[in-house]
Amino acid sequence: MNVTKIIGKIPFFKECDQYNISLWQCPSFLFFILGLLNIGAMISTYIISTRLTEEPEITALITISVSLVIFIIGTVIVQGFDKLLQANKMKTEFIRIASHQLRTPLSSLRWANDLLMQGGGLSKPTHEQEEYLEIIRDSNQRMLKLINDLLDVTKIEMGNLPMELKPADIKSVAQEVVFDLNPLAKANNVVLNLKIKDGLSLVLSDQEKCKMVFTNLIDNAIKYNKGKGSVDIAAEKRGDFIRVSIQDEGVGIPKAQQKNIFQKFFRSDNIMKHQTVGTGLGLFIVKAIIDANKGRVWFESQEDEGTTFYFEIPIAK
Ligand code: ADP
Repeated sequence: MNVTKIIGKIPFFKECDQYNISLWQCPSFLFFILGLLNIGAMISTYIISTRLTEEPEITALITISVSLVIFIIGTVIVQGFDKLLQANKMKTEFIRIASHQLRTPLSSLRWANDLLMQGGGLSKPTHEQEEYLEIIRDSNQRMLKLINDLLDVTKIEMGNLPMELKPADIKSVAQEVVFDLNPLAKANNVVLNLKIKDGLSLVLSDQEKCKMVFTNLIDNAIKYNKGKGSVDIAAEKRGDFIRVSIQDEGVGIPKAQQKNIFQKFFRSDNIMKHQTVGTGLGLFIVKAIIDANKGRVWFESQEDEGTTFYFEIPIAK
């Protein structure tokens, strides 16, 4: 256990844990450091002022004034930090509760809509009614995806995204996702090529979360295509890791915006004219999952030529 972790366990610094921030961003820890600095400043001011003046009252007055100024400035800054963190925590909590409450009625809507589409004991819908029901189903699915993404983001921000790391087979996870996404790929004239050989070592990962990573990356590779194309999904052993690559021939990511790509809600300019549906949360979630897996994720991209996303996760020992 390192020093910052030990300090984080002291009750006075417990809020750092609650806010899920590092010790150096934590108001109570900064306040403590400020106290130490203040003592240091008092001693040095005292030493300097005894050299400048013979009068002990003046020395004491200078020392007290300097430390008072440092103390007031520091307290104001730390209080500001504290308020910002509290507001952020409340916002995250609000999104979490709202998302939770919205998920139940949306799931009921989906269930009722599916029932109507199948007839559900009523007369079968006409062709025109079916088209409207499909619009409702698609909108409902989009809302549910947004709500689920928001819930995952709040869990990540509160530092409690549940992870159950177990040996998992990358190939079978990828196969499942390719099977699920094939209809979407076909509808977009995209061919999915799964190029993972048998016999690859198992990785240490949460199977469901790993599936989420593949789903987000392959879904993007399909969405951001140029009307047609192919997506290659490959994996190979690299030292103690399995490296996965997902390569597309799509619109690419402009060089100037590549540094922002894993930020929450970020969507690049060039895709706005091709594909307006999206939340900008998928890659933020992917990165958080891979980080929690002690792996890394990155990409190479050329605008108008295509993008390759890579991620590495450790082999199970
Ligand atoms: P969303 O797809 O919902 O917008 P993501 O977080 O998954 O959110 O992606 C963020 C942004 O990264 C996308 O809006 C797009 O600009 C860019 N991007 C991600 N994957 C690709 C890709 N394969 N090709 C081109 N751009 C991509």
